[in-house]
Amino acid sequence: MKKPKGIVLYQGKSLIDKKMIVVIATGFQKNYNKKTGDMIQIWILKADNPPIIAKRLGLDYSICGDCKQRHFGSCYVNLCHGPSRVYYAYQNSSYEKYDESMLEFFKGRDIRIGSYGDPSAVPIHIWDTICSVANSYTGYTHNWKKCNPDLKKYCMASVELKKEYKQAKKLGWRTFRAKLEEDSKFENEIICPATTVELSCNKCNLCNGMTSKTKKDVVITAHGADFKIQRFIKGIKKIKNKKKYKINYQNRYEELRKACKI
Ligand code: SF4
Repeated sequence: MKKPKGIVLYQGKSLIDKKMIVVIATGFQKNYNKKTGDMIQIWILKADNPPIIAKRLGLDYSICGDCKQRHFGSCYVNLCHGPSRVYYAYQNSSYEKYDESMLEFFKGRDIRIGSYGDPSAVPIHIWDTICSVANSYTGYTHNWKKCNPDLKKYCMASVELKKEYKQAKKLGWRTFRAKLEEDSKFENEIICPATTVELSCNKCNLCNGMTSKTKKDVVITAHGADFKIQRFIKGIKKIKNKKKYKINYQNRYEELRKACKI
């Protein structure tokens, strides 16, 4: 069977807010990503709104939930690239709908669950199916307090604060912590080898939730575009100083949605 450009794994309601989302796997024909290596990339997108518009109008809640980086504007994913490209290709019917015969394309491959979007928005049977034949996978969720706890099998709990780290550990998660430069590493943490020895995720494979033989957690110093790092630092410092960090997005989103008649 010819390798598809992409496979639509799920079209349905988000488990976060019941709005329509779509889950698309790409990277079957060719794939180059320096940080992850050769991995199938999974995109969790709003089904009916381009990613940039969805973000501006706050509709990305369906796929990102209450991730702090969404409020800070510091998410490392560049929406103009992967998410927009995949969304418009989906709208142009460039991808095939999943059926059982397509599972062979996932066999022995390394999978990045959630190149954009939170895996907790998606019914877990999707991850059970493709991960059952994969060589390895990595995944992260900011929604670890509320989501299906079975997601621990595949995902790390994304945390930024010491308090969250402790809570997530109490709930039985392995964690992936983004920290400020001046913050130190916790005892059970390993520094992400992508930042120390330039190991790609598919070779490292530490971020595979409870599947991992190691019980260690992972920590990384905030990285990426400089302006995003600055936003991240600002947001975290506000929280640490107990200042309000959520601007009143809700009102702004509602005004914009009204103006756009959405
Ligand atoms: S710890 Fe390994 S798998 Fe996790 S982000 Fe770093 S390189 Fe990738």
